[in-house]
Amino acid sequence: MTPNLASFLYLLSSLCFIWALKGLSSPNSARRGNYTGMMGMLIATVTTLYMPNVLSLEWILGGIFIGGSIGTLIAWRLKMTALPQLMAAFHSLVGLAAVCVAASTLENPETFGIGAPHHIPFSNLLEMSVGSAIGAITFTGSVIAFSKLQGILSGKPLSFKGQHFLNAFLGVLLIVLIFLFATTESSSLFWALTGLSFLLGILLILPIGGADMPVVVSMLNSYSGWAACGIGFTLSNPLLIITGALVGASGAILSYIMCKAMNRSILNVILGGFGTSQNEEASLSGPKASHAHVKTGSPEDAAYLLENAQSVIIVPGYGMAVSQAQHALREMVDLLKNKNISIRFAIHPVAGRMPGHMNVLLAEANIPYEDVFELDEINRDFSTTDVAFVIGANDITNPAAKTNPASPIYGMPILDVEKAKTVLFLKRSMAPGYAGVDNELFERENTMMLFGDAKKMVEHIVKNIA
Ligand code: NDP
Repeated sequence: MTPNLASFLYLLSSLCFIWALKGLSSPNSARRGNYTGMMGMLIATVTTLYMPNVLSLEWILGGIFIGGSIGTLIAWRLKMTALPQLMAAFHSLVGLAAVCVAASTLENPETFGIGAPHHIPFSNLLEMSVGSAIGAITFTGSVIAFSKLQGILSGKPLSFKGQHFLNAFLGVLLIVLIFLFATTESSSLFWALTGLSFLLGILLILPIGGADMPVVVSMLNSYSGWAACGIGFTLSNPLLIITGALVGASGAILSYIMCKAMNRSILNVILGGFGTSQNEEASLSGPKASHAHVKTGSPEDAAYLLENAQSVIIVPGYGMAVSQAQHALREMVDLLKNKNISIRFAIHPVAGRMPGHMNVLLAEANIPYEDVFELDEINRDFSTTDVAFVIGANDITNPAAKTNPASPIYGMPILDVEKAKTVLFLKRSMAPGYAGVDNELFERENTMMLFGDAKKMVEHIVKNIA
């Protein structure tokens, strides 16, 4: 393949990735966006395989076969609710790949066309060390995020006194090491800066508490993009530079959007849980044991309340995803709509365990997009609503976010379900949500708890709607 044709095909696949991102910006066009992205990846892979500097196709095809088989197996066995962990795990691999590419380039610069050992130009050494540092931070940071999301590590912020100063000191030390390495090409300095970055990745993510994990996942997504971009510079591969920058920039934009939604400062999250107070940790000491004022109801009670309402707002959360209740919910909504009851859905930006989680599930159940509203669009309507039907959601409704400065979710906007005439909470127990804090709404006068698995409970409600 001629270099011109290869450049043209790389440009074409980059355009496919840009169209893919555009398609993914709306549920209506997301499927098309995915297909366009796949097409771009196919063009990129085939073009790379036909490049003249590919000497041994067997090794590459062997790698594709093994990696592809593992990926297919994981995708088959994976539950939708475990997708955020999987994303974190995949980001860690991108980070590790960046470290490996930088290390092999340092050992063998001729192969990559950047001079001979001990005669690598300053600019290449700089790219290599920055790429390796971002990759190493992404790797260990993603492993910690994975462990927190998977429940291997506690979701609570893990911090110690002076941690932020230590992080700042290590950050400055890293910059010094990168500069020294780029001027000396010493391999021990390379491994020192890479080791330091591995440590920084751990220290940056450990102090971030459960409620801020959505931002961390998108932030690591962005880091993995910049790491890939760094590899692109090292390998002089324009496609990697473009796609890495696309992932890096879109991840950064998503992190910014998530921070705004959570009312968090993006700088605080980048600096590793800056602002996590000791009070906050104290407020996570665990849920209360006694819940004396809780009113419980049956599916019959719920059906009665819903049938006699004029307006209902449904608030889905993580529990709906766990029990896969969206199809049963659709059936319930259809029955209620036939009785001329107004039904709308309220989506919190961090509901579930990944951005857009609830929108995907509702789209899967063919809930019309025009019935689905963002927090800003619907929040003021709760006060004029008869029933708020909260299905498998908790943190996103918790008023502690407004009233308790010591709470880890303090400052996060919530859906004001408490303002509805009646609030139905459908969940299995009094257990707290992801952030690990009690929700005082469960004991409010206008709340009725419906204990049970979301899907089964909705199916029972459907049976009771006449
Ligand atoms: P929460 O985690 O706050 O609450 C979910 C509730 O669902 C739990 O209290 C649980 O209670 C209930 N539940 C679990 N399984 C079932 C089931 N089978 N049937 C019925 N109920 C069930 O979820 P929210 O969606 O309200 O809030 C999201 C939280 O996740 C926020 O804290 C957010 O910061 C965090 N997060 C969000 C990410 C994102 O990108 N969206 C990523 C990472 C974290 P019980 O056990 O009693 O049934």
